[in-house]
Amino acid sequence: MSIIIKALTHIYDKGTPNETVALDHIDLEIASGEFVGLIGHTGSGKSTLIQQMNGLLKPTAGDIIVNNLEITKGLELPKKQRKKYAAERKKQLIEVRKKVGLVFQYPEYQLFEETVEKDIAFGPQNLGLVESHVKQRVMDAMALVGMDYETYKDKSPFELSGGQKRRVAIAGVLAMKPDVLILDEPTAGLDPQGRDEILGQLKTLHDQEQLTVIIVSHSMEDMAKIANRLIVMNQGKVVLDGTPKDVFKEIETLEAIGLAVPQISYLIRALNEKGFALPDDIITVQGAIDAIQNVLEKRAK
Ligand code: ADP
Ligand code: MG
Repeated sequence: MSIIIKALTHIYDKGTPNETVALDHIDLEIASGEFVGLIGHTGSGKSTLIQQMNGLLKPTAGDIIVNNLEITKGLELPKKQRKKYAAERKKQLIEVRKKVGLVFQYPEYQLFEETVEKDIAFGPQNLGLVESHVKQRVMDAMALVGMDYETYKDKSPFELSGGQKRRVAIAGVLAMKPDVLILDEPTAGLDPQGRDEILGQLKTLHDQEQLTVIIVSHSMEDMAKIANRLIVMNQGKVVLDGTPKDVFKEIETLEAIGLAVPQISYLIRALNEKGFALPDDIITVQGAIDAIQNVLEKRAK
């Protein structure tokens, strides 16, 4: 299921003194099965962009085509002519929201049912599924986020830890069986262990369920470990787009837009200035260890 974005612009409070250009002519194509890290400084437009991807926000200009459904069709027309497409667009939006699951930042604030099971069941119930199918979806979704059904189903979401609450919220979106899963800063506020667990589970989900995953993050280091593609935003524009290795080579660009480059990139660069001749696309500590050992072994010979 692909997402195609053409010349997408989003302006908040247009025509007022508070006018803000949040997205500025974005062109982007995300193919089925990709694992994308969407990275950028606060205010760069990440949250605005992902809300466009399932039609929660209407763009000021441009097109969005999700799985061949043009959810922005006719929006550029004058109001009267737009009506012609309104019914069609509404139908398409319902389809798109079923297929593109969006997990907001701090999603645990939106938990509201008395039990974990009821909370996760809320979405599937709204799809009109029979009770046994709803239960199956809850069980499957909990398994996907690593929560034992029997242990947690009757607990109140409010008595759980921060990491567990967030899992319940993610399971609620997974229970809708989306093809694309988009998460806004899913590790914000978690301790390092909770962060690694959630990222590991998202990676597994992507690999096993053939889900397309888009994670909004400001941690280059986290995304380097799991994403196949990094899209870097600044001031409403895409400034870098490529594999983690390609993106990390652009140290100057990344620094200029206020993003922390993984420490290892600096170490590799410093060693190369001293004549080590290491590949400049190393992005993990283990990768650096292997490359340095390689060089040292060659020298010893
Ligand atoms: P990010 O998620 O990368 O931090 P956002 O998409 O939230 O970026 O914000 C992009 C820009 O749009 C920022 O300048 C922000 O202040 C502005 N903005 C975001 N949401 C709103 C809103 N609801 N109303 C007005 N301006 C907004
Ligand atoms: Mg945001």
